[in-house]
Amino acid sequence: MERQILHIDVNNAFLSWTAVEMLKAGETLDIRTIPAIIGGDETRRAGIVLAKSMLAKKYGIKTGETIYSAKKKCPNLKVYRGCEYRVYREYSNKLYNMLLEYTDKIERFSIDECFLDMTEYLAGSTLLDKAKEISKRVKEEFGFTVNIGVAHNKLLAKMASDFEKPDKIHTLFENEIENKMWTLPISELFMIGRKTVPKLNQMGIKTIGDLAKADKKDIIKKFGKHGSLIWEYANRN
Ligand SMILES: [Mg+2]
Repeated sequence: MERQILHIDVNNAFLSWTAVEMLKAGETLDIRTIPAIIGGDETRRAGIVLAKSMLAKKYGIKTGETIYSAKKKCPNLKVYRGCEYRVYREYSNKLYNMLLEYTDKIERFSIDECFLDMTEYLAGSTLLDKAKEISKRVKEEFGFTVNIGVAHNKLLAKMASDFEKPDKIHTLFENEIENKMWTLPISELFMIGRKTVPKLNQMGIKTIGDLAKADKKDIIKKFGKHGSLIWEYANRN
């Protein structure tokens, strides 16, 4: 039997959880609706962007860049300090405990990402219906949103949850791979580092599909073990 996998990924987790926490404390502005970031101490030059709102992202602001550089891209950017890590841990645990109601086969991939193996827990329902239910409940009960990837293995579920954001559910089934996955630029593949992209491009490999169809031996010759891994990923193994 095919495995039934969901990948749940909280949208802009640290910023969203901070927003919910601020609203709970009586703040009326929802910082998810403005260009905003969570950053370290703004007075220090070393302050960096830890998380960003969707609007901040539209200005080209990236996680990990300095606040100084982010402000140059968006002069009216609002910078928030964020909460203690303990608070984020609590949000993560709340989500995890809800997901436990759906399956006991959960892999916590990071503080804001989980894989759910639903193979034995569909009980007459479809995988997509379960995804819709989870998405709705998280939003209603916790006040933040998730992206959910729906697929028959973990890699494809993770790829799918990374498609259009926020608050979206995407399937990536076998018959959708050519259209939804192979058309993507190679940089979108899981485990492809920034340095690997230009090397692949030089070999004429621009999309995930190009890599999938390339000769595995050539890729291994160039990238060794890692080459074998990314070729397997492109071929959804
Ligand atoms: Mg996330």
